[in-house]
Amino acid sequence: MNLDALVFAAHPDDAELGMGGTIANIAKSNFTVGLIDITQGEMSTRGSLDIRKKESNAAADILKTSIRENLLISDGDIQLSDENIRKVVVVIRKYIPKVIFAPYFNDRHPDHISASNLVKKAFFVSGLEKYETSFEGERQAAYRPEKLFYYMQTYSFSPSFIIDISNSFDEKLNSVKAFATQFHDPDSDEPDTFISQPEFIDYVEARAKYYGFHIGKKYGEPFYCEEHIELDISQIFSA
Ligand SMILES: [Zn+2]
Repeated sequence: MNLDALVFAAHPDDAELGMGGTIANIAKSNFTVGLIDITQGEMSTRGSLDIRKKESNAAADILKTSIRENLLISDGDIQLSDENIRKVVVVIRKYIPKVIFAPYFNDRHPDHISASNLVKKAFFVSGLEKYETSFEGERQAAYRPEKLFYYMQTYSFSPSFIIDISNSFDEKLNSVKAFATQFHDPDSDEPDTFISQPEFIDYVEARAKYYGFHIGKKYGEPFYCEEHIELDISQIFSA
């Protein structure tokens, strides 16, 4: 299956928080998007692996992703090892996405930084003919996506561009809330975490409004690209 975009996340719920509106928007615009969770989030304070898997599937349904897979790399220990690089390369070569998305490379959570570095390395290596991988017994062809874009987690950056998510903010919020065990629940007796504070969902909305305002829209999501992005003449005048 060829996909237009592939989104990598260190933990289930990261992609929804960072770019859930854009994922829903890609699917609504008749492009295909897949979600690859690098770990199962087994180090999470709240919830269980089984519940989190159900929550992940529900969130993917809300965003209408074509696939959601898990690389089963150890949570809290995302090493830049050949074994892990190979796992990421195999999915890139399997889905041949035009663009891939990864967590921004500086963040509060060390796993997000490690995930970012892992995807960047695999993005490059995937294009090397001499880096051999196979999937289901078949040798895979070398392939490098056109672009690697980074989405924002806790730490902010000056965006390279902002995607209007005014028509998909509801899906973003619903996909985040699908991870019920991770966020605020007044009836839960599990320990509080950074993201389970009642103010966290307000913060998600405030940030979407903040970036939306920068482009004259109700809600937006910011992205960073290390390379410069070309605009053609029609794009200059379409604004
Ligand atoms: Zn995370």
